[in-house]
Amino acid sequence: MSKEIPYKIYLEEHEMPKQWYNVRADMKNKPAPLLNPGTKQPMTLEELEHVFCTELAKQELDDTTPYIDIPEEILNFYKMYRPSPLVRAYCLEKKLGTPAKIYYKFEGNNTSGSHKLNSAIAQAYYAKKQGLKGVTTETGAGQWGTALSMACSYFDLDCKVYMVKCSYEQKPFRREVMRTYGASVTPSPSMETEVGKKILLEHPGTTGSLGCAISEAVEAATTTEGYRYVLGSVLSQVLLHQTVIGLETKIAMDKYDIKPDIIIGCAGGGSNLGGLISPFVGEKLRGENDYQIIAVEPASCPSLTRGKYAYDFCDTGKVCPLAKMYTLGSGFIPSANHAGGLRYHGMSSVLSQLYDDGYMEARSVEQTAVFAAAEQFARVEGILPAPESSHAIKVAIDEALKCKETGEEKTILFGLTGTGYFDMYAYENFHNGTMSDYIPTDEDLKPGFDSLPKMD
Ligand SMILES: *Cc1c(COP(=O)(O)O)cnc(C)c1O
Repeated sequence: MSKEIPYKIYLEEHEMPKQWYNVRADMKNKPAPLLNPGTKQPMTLEELEHVFCTELAKQELDDTTPYIDIPEEILNFYKMYRPSPLVRAYCLEKKLGTPAKIYYKFEGNNTSGSHKLNSAIAQAYYAKKQGLKGVTTETGAGQWGTALSMACSYFDLDCKVYMVKCSYEQKPFRREVMRTYGASVTPSPSMETEVGKKILLEHPGTTGSLGCAISEAVEAATTTEGYRYVLGSVLSQVLLHQTVIGLETKIAMDKYDIKPDIIIGCAGGGSNLGGLISPFVGEKLRGENDYQIIAVEPASCPSLTRGKYAYDFCDTGKVCPLAKMYTLGSGFIPSANHAGGLRYHGMSSVLSQLYDDGYMEARSVEQTAVFAAAEQFARVEGILPAPESSHAIKVAIDEALKCKETGEEKTILFGLTGTGYFDMYAYENFHNGTMSDYIPTDEDLKPGFDSLPKMD
C-alpha cells in the first residue's frame, strides 16, 4: 500500500541536504574545459582567479569531487526560504483529465521570485569569505540581479549590476527592488566601460544583450580593486549550487516512494534544469535507474535543438573564457518580440555534454503556446508562473495529455522556477492577442554560427 500523497510535500529543516552534488564526478565524458581565448589552452586556477572568487574558481574546475559541503552560513540562509515545496498538481491533473501524476518543485517562494537565490547566496558568501569589497554582474530579465542584490545585502557586499537596457526600461520595478537591497544598477551598454563604449560606437541606439552586459560586468570587476565577477547561470559552479533543488526533490519523493518517469525543466543557461536533474542523472550515469529527461527551450532561441556543439565565446565583447557548448553563436540576437527570458545564446557545458551523450532530450516551444499553458496552470493551481518556467509547464501538459490518450499513469516531475509578477507586459500582449511567434530561419541563424571562433 502506498501512502496517500499530500498536496504539498515539505521536508523538515533537518532533512535538507547538507552537501551539493557534483554530477561531473559521475560523468564518463567530462564537459570540455574552459579555454583561454588567447592561447586556446585550458584555463588555470590562477587565470580564473582574476575574474572569479577563488573558491568558486576551484568549484568550476572540479570534475571529480562528487559531494561538496554546503557551508553553515549558506545552510542558515537557505532555511529562511527553503526547503521549497514539492507540489502534487492534483487540480491540474483533474482539469486535464489525465491519469498521469504531475509534480512540480516550486522555487518562487522568495522575494527574488526564482531559484537564482540558491546560487546568489553561495557566490556572495565565498566573495565575503575572501575579503572582497563587492561583486559585479549582468542581469537580463532581472531575476538574477534581484537575487544577487538580496544575497549581497545579507553579507554586506557592494553589488554592481549591468542590466540589459531594454529590460532596464521595460522593468522599472525590478530595478527598484534591486536598489532597495542596495545594489547599483546601470543600463547596458553604458559609457562606464571600454567595451560598452566600443559596442555603442559600433551599434548606436542598441538596446543591449546579455552577452554585452556580461562583457561590461567582467571589465568592471577586473579593473576595480577588491571586486570579482559573478554569474547566475551557465557555469558549472552555478549548476552545482542549484542541485539543492534536485536533492530536496529526491528526498521528498523517496519519502513517499515516488519515482518520476519524466523530468522536465526549462533551459536558458541550464542552471535550474541541471540542478533539478543532477541527482537523477547521477543514478542514470551509474546505471542504477532510468528517467526520461526533457529540456525545454524557446523556439526563438533554440540552442540545444538547432545549435552547434562547439567552442564559443560566452559574451559579445569576447573577454570571457571559451566554453564548449550547444550554441547559436555569441553573435546571435533573439528576435525582439521574444518575451520571456531564456535568451542566452549558449547552454551549460555540463548539460551540453549530457545532451550530446544522449542522457537528455530537448524540445523547443513557441511563446504563445507557452503563455496559454501558463494561463491554464495559473487558473487551476493558483500560482502565476514566470514565462521561463512556463516552458516546462507547456511540455508537462503535453506529456500529461499523451498519457490521457494512451491511458498510461506516468509520473511527471517538472521544475517551476519562479513567479511572473514582473512579466505582466508579456501577459498583457498575450491577452490582447498582440503576441506573435517567431521561429528563426536557417538564414537568420547563419550570422550567429559565422561568429563562432575558429579553433585550429
Ligand atoms: C533565470 C531563470 C530561468 C533560466 O535560467 P536557467 O539557468 O536556465 O535555469 C528560468 N526560470 C526563471 C524563473 C529564471 O529566473
